Amino acid sequence: MENQQQVIHGLYATYTNLSCRCDLCRASAAEYMRSYRKTNSGKVNARRSQALANERGKLAIQWMKDNNPSEWEEIVKKAHELVKKEKQQ
Ligand SMILES: [Zn+2]
Repeated sequence: MENQQQVIHGLYATYTNLSCRCDLCRASAAEYMRSYRKTNSGKVNARRSQALANERGKLAIQWMKDNNPSEWEEIVKKAHELVKKEKQQ
């Protein structure tokens, strides 16, 4: 193709606009988000996103308990085993 633009990796714009997920572009996006979360609106939005994620997690747990109680017990048992293993190390 003659009109093909040259892709410049390592830019936040390449990550967002072209959806490139190479190491350079991912690092650039991570750095951008790190800086963004230090701004006032970034802090507010990060707090909001975390609160939403927590709410989603609670809903998912309640759904598992209500609809798949035996599987939920398995998950809890495995989680306890993991914690026990971590403490032994
Ligand atoms: Zn890239």
